[in-house]
Amino acid sequence: MDKLRVGVLGATGMVGQNYLRLLENHPWFEVAYVAASPKSAGKPYAEAVAGRWNLDKPIPEKVKGLMVEDASNIAAAKGKADFVFSALDLPTKDETKALELAYAKEGFPVFSNSSANRWTEDVPMLIPEINHGHLSLIESQKKNRGFSKGFVVVKPNCSLQSYITPIHALEQKGHKVELLVITTLQAVSGAGYPGVPSLDMVDNIVPYIGGEEIKTEKEPSKIFGKIAAGKCVPDESIKITSTCTRVPVVDGHTACVTMKFKGAKPSKEEIIKIWRDFKSAPKELKLTFAPERPIIYIEEENRPQPRKDRDSEKAMAVTCGRLRDCPVFDYRFVGLSHNTVRGAAGGGILNAELAYKKNLL
Ligand code: NAP
Repeated sequence: MDKLRVGVLGATGMVGQNYLRLLENHPWFEVAYVAASPKSAGKPYAEAVAGRWNLDKPIPEKVKGLMVEDASNIAAAKGKADFVFSALDLPTKDETKALELAYAKEGFPVFSNSSANRWTEDVPMLIPEINHGHLSLIESQKKNRGFSKGFVVVKPNCSLQSYITPIHALEQKGHKVELLVITTLQAVSGAGYPGVPSLDMVDNIVPYIGGEEIKTEKEPSKIFGKIAAGKCVPDESIKITSTCTRVPVVDGHTACVTMKFKGAKPSKEEIIKIWRDFKSAPKELKLTFAPERPIIYIEEENRPQPRKDRDSEKAMAVTCGRLRDCPVFDYRFVGLSHNTVRGAAGGGILNAELAYKKNLL
């Protein structure tokens, strides 16, 4: 089978590097095009990332010699990529938003990690385990904007990923959640490279991540929203309050969650069973990045831990533990997910695989 040719925009950054690593032996997709800022453009990829390749595995051989193009030059991608992943971090969100929509206008399906288009009305914000049906927005997006083949799909902020699927699994079984109090402990790789200065991070915790709390509190409403008249109508029935912190962990965002149900609460045993039995559309569709177990529950009282649990199920699972009673609300638990894989590049690939299986690529 001929593989689809993939372009990675922002290929030199933290998330871009993860795309190249994760796509190395992908059965359906092949990296054929890389782009970044004018600073990297015109250099072979290996030269452009010399001294800042951050992953344990070496740069994939097939990518080393690819010439890096300027991501703002959309014409350069024509004929070289069938669709693109956007891991761009342009100086302003408006620029990123406009550039992603311009790629779509030029016929490229765009799978984005940026927050720039997350609140664009006709752009689906996907976690395929939860709202794969929101892909139907693509049809209205194309119609609204006169796009022929192109469209934009986004994934949500990486901080949500550690708790939102477990909450969805409970709601799906009729246990409506009405309140969540969340404290995140987020890895430094979430800030890109070079990211947070080392003197801020070593022997320290930074109790602030610009813009993160509002994303953690608001983005679930779009993911849980309903599609009506070509738009996503957010579901704001869960009240969320959060504190987002940066901790000296390389990869893996942890979320400490307190929850309150609307009405009677299920038992702890029931919750754990729901999480362990959770079935997801990505798995049923046999998407290659779908975790076999989307939610893992660990009994040991000192888990999950980033180093031990972030790579479970090819780093695509959400690992939970410490489900216990709460003296104020109903229950507390700890969730963990890999931010640059599940929360970024792996999540983007899962979105593209879903679109591929739905014949949208
Ligand atoms: P990063 O390491 O700073 O990489 C940014 C990328 O954007 C680089 O490839 C950079 O190219 C490129 N870029 C910067 N300015 C540009 C310009 N003017 N024109 C074209 N390209 C330009 O950031 P990151 O952590 O990979 O994040 C990328 C995006 O994913 C961001 O929107 C971020 O919010 C989002 N995200 C990140 C994570 C995470 O865990 N890190 C998780 C979810 C979402 P040069 O190398 O040439 O400068």
